Amino acid sequence: MLDIYNFNPGPAILPKEILLEIKKNFLNWNDSKSSIVEISHRSSKFIKFTLKAEKDLRNILNIPENYRILFCHGGARGQFSAIPLNLTKKFIQPNYINSGYWSLCAFQEAKKYCNPNLINVRRLTKDNQVYIKSVQHWKVSSKNTYVHYCPNETIEGIEIFEEPVLNNKIIVGDFSSTILSRKINIKKYGIIYACAQKNIGPAGITLVIIREDLLQFSNHQSPSILDYNLLAQSNSMLNTPSVFSWYVAGLVFRWIKNLGGLDFIEKSNTKKAQILYKYLNSTNFYKNYISPVNQSRMNVTFHLQKKELTNLFVNIAEKHGLYGLKGHSLVGGIRASIYNAMPIKGIKRLIDFMKYFEKKFG
Ligand SMILES: *Cc1c(COP(=O)(O)O)cnc(C)c1O
Repeated sequence: MLDIYNFNPGPAILPKEILLEIKKNFLNWNDSKSSIVEISHRSSKFIKFTLKAEKDLRNILNIPENYRILFCHGGARGQFSAIPLNLTKKFIQPNYINSGYWSLCAFQEAKKYCNPNLINVRRLTKDNQVYIKSVQHWKVSSKNTYVHYCPNETIEGIEIFEEPVLNNKIIVGDFSSTILSRKINIKKYGIIYACAQKNIGPAGITLVIIREDLLQFSNHQSPSILDYNLLAQSNSMLNTPSVFSWYVAGLVFRWIKNLGGLDFIEKSNTKKAQILYKYLNSTNFYKNYISPVNQSRMNVTFHLQKKELTNLFVNIAEKHGLYGLKGHSLVGGIRASIYNAMPIKGIKRLIDFMKYFEKKFG
């Protein structure tokens, strides 16, 4: 049987061994005699599991003790509201960095609650490649502000590797599609958040890593379920969490730790992306429009020079076991999402297919 590779942007590929483990233990989770989707979130076995999951996550991301880890509801979009609701009591006029689709969405949601400042940092090179201005040129307003940005624009395939340092300003990052793909220095951020369905697990929980002193600014008029302070006090169990997603996330954290942590993961991701971009550079049949400094390691986007062949490419790719390659409708073209769980074999299979397709239709 043909191996299937899932290049979907999210929900995305999960490690095969984890899926098999879930299947094996599904009906009798952790010797509880009940399935993981029936067990109480307040049972001692599950609480124990969440503590271990948190410990593993702290270990792999090197999260300092003065940061709290919350597992929230509502996906990354829920956080687009939660961030201003929890911070604008103190930081009245936030700055929103615009690097693409998701960062702009976060800005638009924030406008419901405050008067944010939008800063466009996207530019074009002479060869029509998109790049992001370096952080020192981000013109943020200076008073009472936090700075929100998105280090990986999932739709366009634009990644910002430079870690923002802006005069002690509180940095808030939407890490949905790059979390756990490389090392980051948590201390540089006030809040990091990420939905689960890219590198963490199934949709249903949302990770928030928040510096403890920021908890005090939450706005008590906001919905309780978005109130970081209440979520922290209840250990993310203010109401019923998605037990299943939390469980799979815990398995993913353990998987990363056992592989050798983010050192290993980052090396492997760098190699995977390099192989694919190098191939893209070697042909005129396909073209990527992102400047090399900002080429995403997680979402590799490209267009066929003969645009009319795009759908055919996607359809035939599926017949070759390569799924989820259609680009987002806003940008068109092809997008290969190559998250942590995508093996290098998947990249090689994709390149072999691209060569075959070019030969046949080029
Ligand atoms: C996927 C994604 C989102 C949206 O996540 P939801 O959980 O569907 O709300 C937001 N931001 C980024 C960067 C994403 O990749």
